[in-house]
Amino acid sequence: MSELLRALRERLGDAGLLVGGDLAAYETDWRKRYPGRALAVARPASTQEVAAVMALCHAHRVAVVPQGGNTGLVGGSTPDDTGQQLVLSLSRMKRVRSVDVANASLTAEAGCVLADVQAAAANAGLLFPLSLAAEGSCTLGGNLATNAGGTQVLRYGNARELCLGLEVVTASGEVWQGLSGLRKDNTGYDLRDLFIGSEGTLGVITAATMKLFPLPRERLTALATCESLAGAVALLALARERASDALTGFEVMNRTSLALVARELPQLPQPLPAAPWTVLLELSDAESAAHARAILEGLLEAAADAGAMHDAVVAQNLQQSAAFWHLRESIPLAQAQAGLNIKHDISLPVSALPGFVADMDAALEHYLPGIQVVDFGHLGDGNLHYNVQAPVGVAPAAFLAAHEGPINAMVYDAVQQRGGSISAEHGIGRLKREELAVRKDPTALALMRAIKRALDPLGILNPGRVI
Ligand code: FAD
Ligand code: ZN
Repeated sequence: MSELLRALRERLGDAGLLVGGDLAAYETDWRKRYPGRALAVARPASTQEVAAVMALCHAHRVAVVPQGGNTGLVGGSTPDDTGQQLVLSLSRMKRVRSVDVANASLTAEAGCVLADVQAAAANAGLLFPLSLAAEGSCTLGGNLATNAGGTQVLRYGNARELCLGLEVVTASGEVWQGLSGLRKDNTGYDLRDLFIGSEGTLGVITAATMKLFPLPRERLTALATCESLAGAVALLALARERASDALTGFEVMNRTSLALVARELPQLPQPLPAAPWTVLLELSDAESAAHARAILEGLLEAAADAGAMHDAVVAQNLQQSAAFWHLRESIPLAQAQAGLNIKHDISLPVSALPGFVADMDAALEHYLPGIQVVDFGHLGDGNLHYNVQAPVGVAPAAFLAAHEGPINAMVYDAVQQRGGSISAEHGIGRLKREELAVRKDPTALALMRAIKRALDPLGILNPGRVI
């Protein structure tokens, strides 16, 4: 055992350091695209232990890969295959430290699973709105490190907008104590926002103070079908106009994505007949169930009259509402089951999306007839998961090897020409690092590199990710 590992064992104890044995769960990413090999896995149980791990790794110049629930989709949370990088898992730091009802805030450790944060807020009679399909295993630290989006961004914003304060361990093992519950604090550069979305390359988040909101009295979910994406955009405009702040979710799924779910997960009911686009919309109302229902039914009627929408079904109870959401959230799982695919997580102004999708679908079909575009996502945020899958009968691995480069170029060129982003919510990690280097504004890249050098001069924090 090396000197570093001996020192880590002494500081963290047996439970705090895993060396050898089966470490696969820490070494392989969720999509199984980046199989790696760890030097060891450190599992500190406190902020002081995280600081000790960083100080030791800094002294030995050993690279550290912070890891939460390991559900990230861009290869940011697992080690490379050299066997030289230490995984720093926050999984033992999962305490909710406090809930401040009067301040509508909560402080929890970074390894706290998102669903547990939501539950702690609900126990106090409040809402923590961040919600995404991986919420049963992703962690608050990972959500902040990737500035996660999810299904409630339309109303409540990204992880960034929900965060009031952070506790962070620096590359050299110092602790920045920034867990204020303050809503106003103009005392110099905003360090909090620097660490949010930095994907473990600038510091290790050990705890965070997050905003809470009143629990809605009623949540109503509906599915509706549209003949075109332009129809779905028109439905969105109507929903905004009629429901205003009560509109908390607006998701779309194209025909191919629901057909894939039908094939891979046939046990899931699909309440509406197949259509070019299916919309999932959700209203959360502070007044009453009757009020919410009146707004929802009124807007669906208006949308049908305007020709924006075809069929619709409103969930009659919580169980049905959960089933609608489950259908939407099962698309990534159906895709994973169907094999490797080319994922895109793009954003554009909502108004530009129908044109982009029509042009891109046609260009891809021309490029490779039979190609499957599994297109779904958060239309209300202008964010689509425009994923591309092999034609039926073509092996996914061969498809990826031959076509990933050209297809990425086609999609990202079109996104860039229209002023969009190549990563709306999943981050850069290893997957999009090369793309970022050639597509991001050069001045922005130079500033990002300067920040990285200032905060992590030895380059030990998640090297090879982001920049
Ligand atoms: P990990 O995967 O462990 O890590 C992600 C990155 O953050 C890595 O770079 C890692 O080094 C870094 N990191 C982790 N913890 C820390 C820490 N404490 N300090 C510093 N750096 C850290 N994302 C969305 O935005 N919206 C979605 O709707 C969405 N849906 C998803 C659905 C599924 C089924 C899956 C598998 C993923 C989805 N994601 C989504 C991806 C999303 O990034 C993650 O689910 C989540 O935010 C990552 O949390 P995690 O704890 O798993 O982080
Ligand atoms: Zn998403």
